[in-house]
Amino acid sequence: MNDPDKPNERPDFWLTVIRTTVGRCPNCGAGRLFASYLKPVDHCAVCGEALGHIRADDGPAWLTILLMGHILAPFLLGVVPNLTWPDWVTMLVVLTLTLVLALLILPRAKGFFIGAIWRSGCIGSEK
Ligand SMILES: [Zn+2]
Repeated sequence: MNDPDKPNERPDFWLTVIRTTVGRCPNCGAGRLFASYLKPVDHCAVCGEALGHIRADDGPAWLTILLMGHILAPFLLGVVPNLTWPDWVTMLVVLTLTLVLALLILPRAKGFFIGAIWRSGCIGSEK
C-alpha cells in the first residue's frame, strides 16, 4: 500500500487515470475499482489499496453532462432537423442515445475523478 503523504511514489498521473477510467485499481491496475455500477470497493482485492473513502461528489456528473453536451449538440442541431422519420421515432432514438451515453460515461467519469484524487494524494473524504 502506498503512503498517502508521498504522492510522488505513486504511478504517473495519466497512467493512474487511465487505469481508473477503465475501472481498475489506480495503484496496481489489476484489481477492480467498482464493487457495483458506481460504488467503489473499500480496498483493492489485489494490492489492498484503500479506495472506498475517496469521494468524487458532483465531479462525475459534471463531466458526464459536459461530454454528453458536446456529443449530442451537433447531432441534435445538425442531424435531427434533416431526418424524415416520424417524430416519435426521432424522440425514441434521441432519448435512447442520451440514456445509453449517460450510463456509459458516468462510471468512467467517476473512475477518472477517483484516480485524479487518489494520485494527488488528497484524502478525498470529509473525515
Ligand atoms: Zn490494486
